[in-house]
Order: sequence, then C-alpha cells, then structure tokens
Amino acid sequence: MVEFMVNAAVVIAMVVVMEGVAYLTHRYVMHGPVGWGWHRSHHEETEGTFERNDLYAVVFMVLSGVLIAVGLAGVWPLRQMGIGLMVYGVLYFIVHDGLVHQRWPFRYMPRRGYAKRLVQAHKLHHAVEGRDGCVSFGFLYASKPAALKARLKSSGALAQRGAEPRGRGGRVQSPARP
Ligand SMILES: [Zn+2]
Ligand SMILES: [Zn+2]
Repeated sequence: MVEFMVNAAVVIAMVVVMEGVAYLTHRYVMHGPVGWGWHRSHHEETEGTFERNDLYAVVFMVLSGVLIAVGLAGVWPLRQMGIGLMVYGVLYFIVHDGLVHQRWPFRYMPRRGYAKRLVQAHKLHHAVEGRDGCVSFGFLYASKPAALKARLKSSGALAQRGAEPRGRGGRVQSPARP
C-alpha cells in the first residue's frame, strides 16, 4: 500500500513538473530561434489535419514510451515518470487541442470556471501574431485573462495589429471543419 502511494505520488508530481517543463519549452524553445521552425505552423493557418508543431507531441510521446520501457526493465521510478508524462499529454490534448483549438469531432466550449479561463488565456497567447511579444505559455495553469490583457496592452504587442485575437485562436468561432 505504501509502495502504491509513493508510486502514485511520483505520477502526480511528474504531471506538475511537466507543466513547468512545458511552460519553459514553449516559452524559450518553441518561441526561440531553435524551436520556432516547428512551432510556427501552430501560429499560422495551415492546410490539413496535422501541423509541423505536432512533432513536439510525438517527441514527448516517444520520451514517455522510453521512460516506461526502461522503468519496466527495472529502473525505478522511470515507469511512474513515463506514466505521469503520458497523463500530462492527455490533459494537454484535452485542454489545448480539444477545448481551445477544437481538434476533436464535437463542439464543447467551457462557459465558466477554470476551464474557461484556460481557454481564454491560450487564445490570448495566439492574440499576438508571430514569435515575439506573446503571453501565457502554460497549458494547465494560466494567469487571469484580465491580467494577460493588461500585459499585452502595456507591452504594446497588440497595438499595431488591432485588439482582437487573430490567427488560430480565432478558429473556435469559425464553423465546424468538414
Ligand atoms: Zn506558442
Ligand atoms: Zn495553441
């Protein structure tokens, strides 16, 4: 029982740590000179179901698989860490690809509560066109939308391009895809 509790705690801790890793990766790698090549596709309208940015998800999926495999071979607690990474991936998909970008076959928009705040915060991430001046790099934790808007306003990132969110963030309002 104690062993199970410890292992469960490792999984949960990994989910929390991954939000930090995702924030840092998104902010400094994906929006940096090294990672923008893949991430750019996510900030522009693209043809087809997949975008180059999805390769980041593939990388983390492979990493999760490797951790689980090495963990199963006997290295504790890599299996639990791999499972935590996988759980984070599922939560990321639900919030980011599902709730925000509606990449699933049904329509559901959270109208209140923390889920709505996450959606609004990520739409504000897409409010600025291009690599620089963006806000809100996290996925499962986000500042209040009002605070993010204030930051955008004071940085002037939106001023030259109009105040309304554009690009992929606006996709949610467009009719369902065929
Ligand atoms: Zn981004
Ligand atoms: Zn996005």
